[in-house]
Order: sequence, then structure tokens, then C-alpha cells
Amino acid sequence: MSQNDDDLMLKERLKGIKKKFVVLSGKGGVGKSTVSVNIACALAAKGFKTGLLDVDVHGPSVPTMLGLTGAKLVSTEKGIVPAEIGCIPNLKVLSVGFLLGEKDAPVVWRGPMKTGAIKQFIKDVEWGELDYLIVDCPPGTGDEPLSAIQLLDNPDGAVLVTTPQEVSAADVRRSVNFCKMLNLPVAGIIENMSGFACPKCGEVYDIFGKDGGEKIAKDYRINFLGKIPIEPELGKCGDAGVPYVNRADSHASKIFTHVAEVLTEIKK
Ligand code: ADP
Repeated sequence: MSQNDDDLMLKERLKGIKKKFVVLSGKGGVGKSTVSVNIACALAAKGFKTGLLDVDVHGPSVPTMLGLTGAKLVSTEKGIVPAEIGCIPNLKVLSVGFLLGEKDAPVVWRGPMKTGAIKQFIKDVEWGELDYLIVDCPPGTGDEPLSAIQLLDNPDGAVLVTTPQEVSAADVRRSVNFCKMLNLPVAGIIENMSGFACPKCGEVYDIFGKDGGEKIAKDYRINFLGKIPIEPELGKCGDAGVPYVNRADSHASKIFTHVAEVLTEIKK
């Protein structure tokens, strides 16, 4: 297939998707997948036809977070078929994790294989009509997130996830500049793991420092989407494959719903 055929096919695939947002972070382990899963679930709960695409080739965690670890890649002559989850209507999910057999097997792919897999996961998926596609990108500002963003053909915006400490915040500054370079509007920054509220005494401990993400948002005049504290239940739900966003009493769940609302208000 020539490059032109490939590009045409890509455009054709993406035509049925009204809005595409990428979730980015400067480094791994800051909660990017947690945010991706929960904002996708929040959008689906609002009745929007939502797709969640996990192209984090380093450590795809979406299957675990949505109880889809046994899911295998299914394709028909029309393309790769995303998974659906009985208890979450309106949500379709596809993860590079569906390609990898053993859960504990390392992802040993050379650079071109990773970018090839990202391309295939964007080009060959039969999403049908979607209101929103949320893309959990690989961390950092290298080849892989770059390929994902370019292949998505002008995503409508990026949600940046950081933790409050300076080392992580420095990385997210690079992500902000990366978005600028690519003319990708930043929908906002989330400061995750922002303090730990002791379930016993209620006191909040800023174990990773304070306000790193909020400060960057101010410095760069970017929308600050809020702080998500460390909530042990959030980690447990992630491990158990249960989305967290519908826990009305949790602070994290309010932020996820707020982010979903912000995304729905973004006009091109
Ligand atoms: P990333 O995608 O950036 O690598 P993940 O979303 O996979 O990060 O999060 C890393 C781990 O931290 C996961 O086990 C997740 O459940 C947990 N986690 C993320 N955010 C929180 C939080 N606010 N409170 C508790 N656990 C969290």
C-alpha cells in the first residue's frame, strides 16, 4: 500500500470521530492512564459515544484498569474491532495491551515497531461513529507520542497530567512546549497525586510537594483542571478493573467529571 493510500485510509477512519483528545504526561507513573480511563468513562456516562485508545506501548495499563486483561485483538475484513464492556454503555476500548499475550511479558519492541503499532492502532480500527476519542499516549516528548499526535490529524486538544513535585513538573513543561511546537491546543493540566488525605485523621500531607502543576498552568496561562489527591481506593479500583468516576463522594471523581465537561465545551 502506498503512503498516499495509507493517508487516505487514515482520513477515512478518522472521519466518523467528532472530537479527539490526547492525554499526555512528561513521564510514566503520574496517572495518565488513570485519567484517560476515567474521563472516557465520564464522557460515556453522559451518553456520548466514546472511544478509548491506549497506545502507551511501554506499559499499556488500560486493559487492567477496565477488567479487559483477557481481551484479545479481534479483526474482521473491516478492521480491528474495539472491545465493549457490558456495564459501561457507550464506551469502546482498544489497547496495544490486547496484542501482548502474557501480562508480565516485557514489551520488547524496537522504535520502528512501536511507531508501526501506533500507526496500525490509529489507522485500522473500526470505531464507527464516535463523539469523542480519548487517546492514552506514550509518556514523554519523543517519537512515540509525536507519531500518535501526527497520525491523529489535528487532535482537538491535549490533557496534560503531572504530579506536584518539581522533577515531574519540569517534564510537563517540556510537554507544554511540545504541544506548542505541534500547534496542539492544551485543554488543561491536571495535578495528580496532589497530597494524601489521611483516612483516619483527615489531615492532608503534601508528600510530593505542592502546587507544581498549578504553577505551570499559571506560568503558561493554561487552564488548570484541578488537583487529584492520592486516594487509596482509586489505586485499588484501577487494579481491580473498576472505573472510579462514578463514586459521587470522591474528590477525584468530581475532577474527572469536571475534565469531561471542559472537553465537551471545547469548540474547534
Ligand atoms: P501512568 O499512565 O502515568 O503510567 P497510571 O495511571 O498507570 O500512570 O498510574 C500509576 C499507578 O498509580 C496505578 O496503579 C494507579 O492506579 C495509581 N494512581 C494514579 N493516580 C492515583 C491517585 N490519585 N491515587 C491513588 N492511586 C493512583
